[in-house]
Amino acid sequence: MSAIADLAALEDKGEFARRHIGPSDAEIAAMLKVVGTDSLEALAARTVPAAIRSSAPLPLPPAATEAETIAELRALAAKNRADIKSLIGIGYHGTLTPPVILRNVLENPGWYTAYTPYQAELAQGRLEALLNFQTMVTDLAGLPVANASLLDEGTAAAEAMALAHAATRGKSDTIVIAADVHPQTRAVVAGRAEPLGFRVLVTKPAEIIATVRAEKPFALLLNYPGTTGEIRDLTREIAAVHEAGGLAIVAADPLSLVLLTPPGEMGADVVVGSTQRFGVPMGFGGPHAGYMAVKDAHKRLMPGRLVGVSLDAAGQPAMRLALQTREQHIRREKATSNICTAQVLLAVMASMYAVWHGPEGLARIAKRVALQARLLAGAAKRAGFALRHADFFDTICIEAGGKAEALIAGALKRGFNLARHEGGGVGIALDETVTRDDLLALVEAIAEAGGQAAPKLDGIMPEGGFPAALARSSAVLTAEVFRSHHAEHAMLRYLKRLEDKDVALNRSMIPLGSCTMKLNATAEMIPVTFPGFGNIHPFVPVDQATGYLEMIRRLESWLCAVTGFAAVSLQPNAGSAGEYAGLLAIRSWHRARGDLHRDICLIPSSAHGTNPASAVMAGMKVVVVGCDRDGNVDLDDLRAKAEQHAAKLAALMVTYPSTHGVFEEAIREICALIHEKGGQVYMDGANMNAQVGLTSPAAIGADVCHLNLHKTFCIPHGGGGPGVGPIGVAAHLAPYLPSHPMLAEAGPMATSHGPVAAAPFGSASILPISYAYIRMMGPDGLKRATQVAILNANYIATKLAEHYPVLYRGSQGMVAHECILDCRGFQQNGGASVEDIAKRLQDYGFHAPTMSWPVTGTLMVEPTESETMGELDRFIAAMVAIRGEIRAIEQGRMDRADNPLKNAPHTAAEVMASDWSHPYSREQAAFPLPYVARQKYWPPVKRVDNVHGDRNLVCTCAPLEAYAQAAE
Ligand SMILES: *Cc1c(COP(=O)(O)O)cnc(C)c1O
Repeated sequence: MSAIADLAALEDKGEFARRHIGPSDAEIAAMLKVVGTDSLEALAARTVPAAIRSSAPLPLPPAATEAETIAELRALAAKNRADIKSLIGIGYHGTLTPPVILRNVLENPGWYTAYTPYQAELAQGRLEALLNFQTMVTDLAGLPVANASLLDEGTAAAEAMALAHAATRGKSDTIVIAADVHPQTRAVVAGRAEPLGFRVLVTKPAEIIATVRAEKPFALLLNYPGTTGEIRDLTREIAAVHEAGGLAIVAADPLSLVLLTPPGEMGADVVVGSTQRFGVPMGFGGPHAGYMAVKDAHKRLMPGRLVGVSLDAAGQPAMRLALQTREQHIRREKATSNICTAQVLLAVMASMYAVWHGPEGLARIAKRVALQARLLAGAAKRAGFALRHADFFDTICIEAGGKAEALIAGALKRGFNLARHEGGGVGIALDETVTRDDLLALVEAIAEAGGQAAPKLDGIMPEGGFPAALARSSAVLTAEVFRSHHAEHAMLRYLKRLEDKDVALNRSMIPLGSCTMKLNATAEMIPVTFPGFGNIHPFVPVDQATGYLEMIRRLESWLCAVTGFAAVSLQPNAGSAGEYAGLLAIRSWHRARGDLHRDICLIPSSAHGTNPASAVMAGMKVVVVGCDRDGNVDLDDLRAKAEQHAAKLAALMVTYPSTHGVFEEAIREICALIHEKGGQVYMDGANMNAQVGLTSPAAIGADVCHLNLHKTFCIPHGGGGPGVGPIGVAAHLAPYLPSHPMLAEAGPMATSHGPVAAAPFGSASILPISYAYIRMMGPDGLKRATQVAILNANYIATKLAEHYPVLYRGSQGMVAHECILDCRGFQQNGGASVEDIAKRLQDYGFHAPTMSWPVTGTLMVEPTESETMGELDRFIAAMVAIRGEIRAIEQGRMDRADNPLKNAPHTAAEVMASDWSHPYSREQAAFPLPYVARQKYWPPVKRVDNVHGDRNLVCTCAPLEAYAQAAE
């Protein structure tokens, strides 16, 4: 018996938590002393208000080890039928991820742990990959400007609708949608249209022109190819909507565009779609990079992020995010989109797929799937079936009538899922994974359903295909980068070269306030690329995805435990999408009670820009509530506005702990006040890392919240996506969670507003990351992580307080999990701006904290629990040294214009150059502290000139080459 007890002790179920949490027990003790508290419990008691602090442990299963968790996820993946090939199409296709991209991008922390490229100088690698993505999309779409990804095809189409409405200045409120647009796209667009008061008309393809002439819509949405595979010339339909004063939006399959006339050349104003089949596994629906390309006239209305080329301080070409002042987060309640986190990692993969294959490789893949489709069309004809469409690219629709079920069953028996379309249509979408044996089996299934013997492959005459008139004549992917890296060594080194330009978590801490750049453990990442999770189409019969559903239900129940809520939806694929979904739930609840007029949303001035943008998208009117001097919601102002708008109050959106990094004492009072006036409380859960295990959204009195699984629950940032933004709701809101037209299991069909993402469970294939995190931490580990996150933030605040004023503290002098360092005074004394400090940190090898948000001229530091005391001390040393440099300027010991801060960052080329004219040494420029010299990160470019880039907007690569030559 005692041997068993000894064994249990030696098994060490807490090992993962100890490795996820950076500081050791001894370090924690030392840091507690610095902060002036005795224990983590005492620290929590001084930070989290007593009224909301929970004492009960989280109702979660006890911690499992890494090995146990990986085995558990492997078993779940094995329950999914990845052995069945899905030829369903409808927006998702089998694809072969080139192994060199799989291992060196998708499985590489140098790529997946990077942050959104706001600090351009240390993000040149991913910026270049995104510029390649934009170039690829503009080429394929036949339009001049493309953004750096959107969340998926459905939301991209909805964003395009909003863009079209803004571009046509509201002359019409009607959008016409072709009936052969993918059903999930139609549902997402219809869901977006309803709260905005847009009328959606779904029209048969044959009636589009007449409908457009009669209705004069602001937009027409088409699919190319149609959802059942039809290819038709869209020129006349597009011309008709232009005549009517509207914009033409085309959702297009990128592989087809390699061979077909692109929508841009047919006159389309906006082209959207998904780049999934460019090497990104289907993953039960996501994550994948949606895309959008527009005519030049609309580029300033385009949602999401746009990478542009500019020059650095040395006159060399350098990239950065363009038009940042136009970015949606600044437009707040004037926004037409709320997108923040997008799909950078997947956009990088898709662009690298194009780099790897090049134009000839892509054309070969496209021609192959097109010929396969024609062969199966021939087989269908031979077996006595008609085809729904004579013109198609890679997807055929067999008119199987009463034999449809037999055909689908015969294919399934042979290992293939086909699509079931209305009216006895059976869809077969070919993809690059389909082999000759597969084709033969499909031919057999078709012959069998037609009651005939199967012919040999070489006995089949290809049938149909796309019309010669629609064959593409313009070249694609002509930029150098798509012709240079076709040998694997060349590709491997290109990926490495880009990776090495950037700072990601595998180099140093990224202390970004509000973004929670914690450890993304390898054990959490391994299951993501299990084929049992990757090769599952989102619309497979549910009995083929039982492993997914089991994992999803467990994760939902764990997130219920963490939030204290009754139900969770995992569908929203970013925090912003969660906000929108949560507000729709509130809106639906009000409406179900007959409160049709409740449309006022109170939002504190300190809120993240996505909050007001989401409220507007949900059909609400934003009323801003002020903050007091301590950074708390101004209670008097809140009371007055809640009273003033009581009859129309829909909701309050509140971030907790606040974006100022403080647990407001009055939070329960605030929630009670809103409820009293008939409103609901939406909690922005971006700061959940300060709550897990100590308090919860339900405990503070909220009704709904989103979580950012890519912040608190370890999904890596991917350089700006993917993310998952699930929402938790109290029981009364559960009937209004998102649903999905293709899968009843996704949500409450009858009462829901509909889907907020294209796939039933959003970015399903990265859910194993958060599953593994919760499973391996267990309730004790999660709580301790929160405590240490608070300790790490307070340690930094304490150590840096004498150098930088710390803005905002709780009633007992503590910050929550992040702290704001006030840098405004240095600027006034002529010393340095907050931007100078951020850029100078690069010379020390660090990514800057969040800059000028939520308070202009400050840095918001969030170290997370995963950083060791040693790493915190290194960061603190850098900040103290920079303060010393500022002091030297203030005291006149250093030149006000020519100093290491103003000139930061310093490149190797500059420091090595034979002429060095600055009044400080090269050593101080590049190796300002001893540790820097031991492991130097060299920023590849000097400070990037944003203004120049916005005046001369260049967003594709061919000009980059021209820029480079011009600079030589
Ligand atoms: C990150 C963040 C969001 C938006 O989340 P995304 O996943 O980027 O859409 C919203 N609110 C706050 C406070 C955030 O930090």
